[in-house]
Amino acid sequence: MFGALDKTFIWAVKYPFDKKSIELLSSLEISLEEILSDESFLEEARKKLKYILKEGKLIPTVSQNPYRDFVIFYIQVLLVRALGHTYIERRFIEVYSKFSSSFLSREDEGNVEELAKNLGLSAELLNIDGNLYFGVPFYEFFKLSKKLSDKYWKLYYFPLHKGYVLLNRKNFVRLLQEAIKVRLFEILLSVENVPEEISEVAQKLLKEVEEFIPKTRRRQEGDFITRDVENYPPCIKYLLANIGKGLGHSARFTLVAFLNTMGYSKDEIIQMFNVTPDFNERMTRYQVEHILGLRGGKTRYSVPSCRKIVSYGFCKADDICKKYTILHPLKYVYVKKRYRE
Ligand code: SF4
Repeated sequence: MFGALDKTFIWAVKYPFDKKSIELLSSLEISLEEILSDESFLEEARKKLKYILKEGKLIPTVSQNPYRDFVIFYIQVLLVRALGHTYIERRFIEVYSKFSSSFLSREDEGNVEELAKNLGLSAELLNIDGNLYFGVPFYEFFKLSKKLSDKYWKLYYFPLHKGYVLLNRKNFVRLLQEAIKVRLFEILLSVENVPEEISEVAQKLLKEVEEFIPKTRRRQEGDFITRDVENYPPCIKYLLANIGKGLGHSARFTLVAFLNTMGYSKDEIIQMFNVTPDFNERMTRYQVEHILGLRGGKTRYSVPSCRKIVSYGFCKADDICKKYTILHPLKYVYVKKRYRE
């Protein structure tokens, strides 16, 4: 039998993206370094991720250790982030969103409603003429159903009630699966740096799974990279425009990580900072090398998510950011390039 703590971990294994699970993760009295000191964690995460990428599903094993499974999910998140590959991210998100929704369809109504609320949906459980429905506000229905290609997902196929679209449990869970994908994507984007040992394993894994990555997808990676500033998001353009006035720590960190992702070399980036009156090449080199993972802990920092940039105070969202619900500056580049083509 499972104890109360195990039950909390079982919930976290089924719904690792949920608010309660993330709180549980933060409350663990063990650091990532301590977890990684047991190599079997990273090895199991690598094997599971490889299986996901190859088979498009999770290894069908029944674990007796929900704590371990939960932690391994988050090690896989770090591996996926270190791989930095759109196809791999999508595959990972697709598999885990399906996995979670398979449990959701068996949860009681209260749990489904709670999870929906934690995902940010203002859905209500409604009893109408003795029938239970999940009522979803129109705008949330439109937002989440727009990627569902089945023609059945049209508003006129569903009953309406006081601004709510009424869904049965099966359809509501399908819609929630879309909300889960968004949350998983946010979790991936929230990772700002990955420990070196995870990056090393990720690079080995990339060689092992390369053959499973469709060629068309592989080519799409280049779509994120450009030196055409017109394709850069407004936050980055703002930083570039203000580089001569001197940038604070978060701003420099964001700009360096972004420019490096766009293919600028270390020396090119250092020279870009050579417009400030107090430019100090030695100090700039030290900072840039640190951000690019060439010094110190050798952690290479990724471009921060929009959420982070908003908190830093230099998000300058334009119509594209709003229209395409941009959650990450690199996604903006991708969208803008396609938009201009
Ligand atoms: S929404 Fe994101 S990409 Fe757009 S300006 Fe803000 S931080 Fe930059």
